[in-house]
Amino acid sequence: MSASPTPSATPPVPSSAASPPRSKAPKAKPKQKAPSRPGRLKNSEDPYPQPPVDEPTDAESRTLAAFQDALHQARDLEAAVAKDKKRVEELTSKLASDRKRLTEMTVEAQVRREVLAREARQLYIGATTSLSSQPIDLSPVGSDAAAEFVEQEKSTAEMTQKVAMDERDLATANMRLSTTTQKLTKAQSKVATLKGRVDSEVREAILRAHQESADISVPRDVTRLGGGKLGLPLIGTETSPFGNRLDPYFQRWQLHAGLDIAAAMGTPIRAAAAGVVTQSGWNGGYGNYTCLNHGNYDGKRLTSCYAHQSRILVSDGQQVKAGEVIGLVGSTGASTGPHLHFEVRIGGRPVDPKPWL
Ligand SMILES: [Zn+2]
Repeated sequence: MSASPTPSATPPVPSSAASPPRSKAPKAKPKQKAPSRPGRLKNSEDPYPQPPVDEPTDAESRTLAAFQDALHQARDLEAAVAKDKKRVEELTSKLASDRKRLTEMTVEAQVRREVLAREARQLYIGATTSLSSQPIDLSPVGSDAAAEFVEQEKSTAEMTQKVAMDERDLATANMRLSTTTQKLTKAQSKVATLKGRVDSEVREAILRAHQESADISVPRDVTRLGGGKLGLPLIGTETSPFGNRLDPYFQRWQLHAGLDIAAAMGTPIRAAAAGVVTQSGWNGGYGNYTCLNHGNYDGKRLTSCYAHQSRILVSDGQQVKAGEVIGLVGSTGASTGPHLHFEVRIGGRPVDPKPWL
């Protein structure tokens, strides 16, 4: 199971939510990062390093990219608001309990003050009424009780300070929450605006494209295998669809950039269409990862990628036929069991593979 982290249209960069760098488009050779050792994931490692993404060239793609960026940002802010809310709740309850304790202490101190006053008064009366008798020992009042009283006053003062500090902390947390909430509101309205534009512009563009060109839907160099434009890479059980989800391995909310198909370890993986191997090897959370370039679709690169393989059976630059075995199912990288994570990318950007199959 894996995914690509970011719902952004740009190469999803999981760690930094903000705005993932758009890599310079279709380079013949994707920049090679020093590959990490297969089978191991370091914390610092990019969970799902993304293949290069083409710059959006048309207005519709740019709108879509902006929308996905905004959506991602809003999601991050939602998480931040939830965290800030929790902090406010915690501080509110701490303040309440400290306030309660202070009230109790204040009452105790008041009671003791009264007791002391009464005792002192009695001593004074005693002393004045029996001046002729033995001198009175003043120590019982003077030492223990008074010392305790002083101690009590001190801790009451400390508690008062603690409550004041709690109040300050809570005020700060509240301010933070309000700032984050404001940002979220802004981000949400941006999402709504862009969503509206995406809905209208993109739909119009798709309709226009289909009207303008009859055979635009099936690129000539993509061999038709199954019911869709791409062949099913293997027969198995679909376990996780494309879309936003809580990543089962990294336990964070992100775009699952592909379709998970569970199958027995070692099940052959077949090329979804004829193409050229553009990437093959260890790729962070993707484990053993292969990408095939199938040529252009509607003016954009159509690629398919295959993650978590136990074995890769092709190499960079190799031509593969549709249905050719390119690797074996495994559970390498950020995977919780043997399955194929299958991706379809248009111009490098992941799209839902389902309609393609
Ligand atoms: Zn997956």
